[in-house]
Amino acid sequence: PFCVLEPSCSNSIVNSYQFYTDSDFYTQSAFEFAQMLWNFRTYKIRKILEMKLREKISFHSGIDNMVLPWILNHPGLYIPLWAWHKLTRHLKWRRNYETLPENTSQIEQRIIQEQKKREKNWGICSNCFLRYICDKGDNPFLVSQFKLNPSSGNPIRNPLYFRSYIPRYSVRVDEEKRSKFSKLEQLYEEGIQTTLHHRPWKEIAPEDYKIENRMTHYMPGAVRWFAFNCGELQSTPLCKTEPPLTISVTFGGGFAEQIGFSFGAHIKIVCPMIAQSHKLILHINEKGHYVLIRDKEIIYPTEFFNASLVPPRLPQKLEPRISVWNIDGEIVTQGITLWKPEKVSEGDKTIKPKFSFLYVCSRYSNRLRASLLSIAHQRQFDLNQVEIVVAYVPDLDATDDVLDCFESAFPNIKIIRSPFSQSYWKSKGFLINASLPLCSADWVILIDADIVLHPNFLSTMDKIGPDIPFVAPDGRKMLTPETTSQILLGLIRPWEQYDTLMEGPGEWRRREADGIPIGYCQCCRKEVFQKIKYPDFNHFEGADWFFGRSVVQTFGPEHRLTGIPLLHLDHGGSQWYGSQKHR
Ligand code: SF4
Repeated sequence: PFCVLEPSCSNSIVNSYQFYTDSDFYTQSAFEFAQMLWNFRTYKIRKILEMKLREKISFHSGIDNMVLPWILNHPGLYIPLWAWHKLTRHLKWRRNYETLPENTSQIEQRIIQEQKKREKNWGICSNCFLRYICDKGDNPFLVSQFKLNPSSGNPIRNPLYFRSYIPRYSVRVDEEKRSKFSKLEQLYEEGIQTTLHHRPWKEIAPEDYKIENRMTHYMPGAVRWFAFNCGELQSTPLCKTEPPLTISVTFGGGFAEQIGFSFGAHIKIVCPMIAQSHKLILHINEKGHYVLIRDKEIIYPTEFFNASLVPPRLPQKLEPRISVWNIDGEIVTQGITLWKPEKVSEGDKTIKPKFSFLYVCSRYSNRLRASLLSIAHQRQFDLNQVEIVVAYVPDLDATDDVLDCFESAFPNIKIIRSPFSQSYWKSKGFLINASLPLCSADWVILIDADIVLHPNFLSTMDKIGPDIPFVAPDGRKMLTPETTSQILLGLIRPWEQYDTLMEGPGEWRRREADGIPIGYCQCCRKEVFQKIKYPDFNHFEGADWFFGRSVVQTFGPEHRLTGIPLLHLDHGGSQWYGSQKHR
């Protein structure tokens, strides 16, 4: 009770009125529900939550209502009661409503009577100005130890009257969440404004997509998804494009555990379904940063146990699909609309690239910069025909920064980011296989981030005949730490003194690994990857050699670029991939 403490402590007092209205605590129904769940094991809690979510929204809810009491361990009592209620709810004698007075003044009188009746039970507290926000000594221990001391004055009705201005504290977990969400607010505004005020780029009709590997039931203006298993179902791609992109889809007419979007096997941007229907908006800006909006509220995508499927940003080639997890029988998708800024949606008028460089870069941003510069300084080749795909983990090192600078300095060379979450950073094969769809050129050049190209590399590659599918450089020169440092600091510009560097100190490796072209630079025509998958080990060792050998065995010996060796920057050890240090 307020009256047992000094008035200066009033803002710290929490009675039941404050407990259920202060946002630091709980809403009453949620608190009581949580108290009830506390007694159950997790699998039962999960079932109860699913049933509560579906209550009154699914035609299965009748069955759920019968199963729920069984789960709650009161089947014997509940089922006959439920049946009795069903059979008798229409009978007049059960409708014990009281009629209201006929006019307003009678209603007001009635209210005063009811208040007096109630306040009569409050005893000494009935004249206290805190009686509407206090438990009035409803605690035998306190009442036995302290004397209640009512104060007169205008009654206070706001339960948070004393708590309005107290400082709020949050734990680190909440702080991190709050900062995550605050970064999303600008994206949220952009997304909502786009859907409200911009003309759609595409409206996807039901017949424009189908459910992959499953019967698709078309309805007027919608697609119905049926499922009797718990896994993911996804649609065929809704489009192929690049960021920016905004997608809106309405889910309803059933229930599923997770709904949202898929961007391939390793990216799932989904969220739980918590109501009868949801409108989801996924807004992706030109850099691939995104926000998921469920019914006009930001929602952080679901993180899956044991699988990192939510990267900080999306790749720069997008093939969005609808993704639905654990459908409860059926669900309907409709109203699929896509937006893109006008100038972007007019169509891609750039030249089709001839060469796609594919880097996998984990903490090698320092060396990646030197490697990219060696592409930018190729001689006698139109760099508009080059694209560079970089598979990397955002925020792990300065790769994003390096790519931003490179794009700004060399706008004619297209950079395509292929971001992954950190759990994949040592799975080189996975990163390569997942990034290959982003490579649009006929040639894919798998290259390490610590390789500096010969200035005539591309002009020589350009002369290769159409019957050659696999090409490798004429060996590599392992540069010393001193030379590497000078290159990284910009004191040596390799494209200006390549021959001098080749003749300088360092080990020369013309043929190695039994003559099989290995991973520092393997050039393959696109069709090679249709027959041979890059080995998907969860470590880097040997995968490049196995891949090179498979290509040689399938397509015949590689073509060597005679007189075109590469420079290999030193990185202080053999752990060249997935480095723990920033190199
Ligand atoms: S309502 Fe009763 S218990 Fe509460 S502060 Fe007033 S006198 Fe004390």
